[in-house]
Amino acid sequence: MELKDHVFLSKELKDTFVVDVHIHVGGSTRYQKPRNDGDSVVYTMDRLGIDVTCASCSPGAYCDWMWGNEVCAEAHAGHPDRIKAYAVVNPNYEFDLDEYFVRDDRFFGLKAIPFVQGNLPIDCAGMQQYYAYADKHGLPVLFHAWQPSEVRDATAVARRYPNARFIFGHSGFTAVEEAVEACKLCDNVLLDTTISDIYDGALERIVSKVGADRVAYGTDLTAFECSHILGRVLLSRLTDTEKEKVLGLNAKEFLKL
Ligand SMILES: [Zn+2]
Repeated sequence: MELKDHVFLSKELKDTFVVDVHIHVGGSTRYQKPRNDGDSVVYTMDRLGIDVTCASCSPGAYCDWMWGNEVCAEAHAGHPDRIKAYAVVNPNYEFDLDEYFVRDDRFFGLKAIPFVQGNLPIDCAGMQQYYAYADKHGLPVLFHAWQPSEVRDATAVARRYPNARFIFGHSGFTAVEEAVEACKLCDNVLLDTTISDIYDGALERIVSKVGADRVAYGTDLTAFECSHILGRVLLSRLTDTEKEKVLGLNAKEFLKL
């Protein structure tokens, strides 16, 4: 059976390792989606055959990042092998990340989304403490990389902190070409499929430019459903070997899962 047949037969992916590198847990006035807790995420994962998801609580970042991190850590604690937790960091505060990564082992990486924390840029002064920490400890950092200015800043950060590993969430979306260039320039950058493959052929185009080793499945679950992006990958013109890399093998290596 080829991977695309799972779509036609409505079968979950049993024999393929699947990682979603970009999901959200928790709710807020901006994320009024039902079923956004860890149990609901795992229900969806089981239904589709997703092995691991990597979650942040971006709704928490809009109002209270530390509370949001607790919501995310709770989802991880309920399903430690299935849901990994990114800690959202906030450039308006000085915060000792040892709190999350030494005294507490609930988190595995960082989510950087400073535009919802006072409309600050990715490369602002307050974020450097977090990137330096990620660089020192080789942590993954998930960016909201949506537009040219964000991709430009994210690229500068990735070059300055070569030991940290950066996922460009949304593959740039309105700045895909810039994200592709960043990927070519920086070995420590991975692009994710969240929304970015919204039109037919976009995923194939990105893979043709950066290679199948540099793109990972991501979806924005629970802000959105995740099955349509899974379908996009499975029904794409990539080979099954390339699909397996995008669906999970790249994330497994990049995130050291
Ligand atoms: Zn997101």
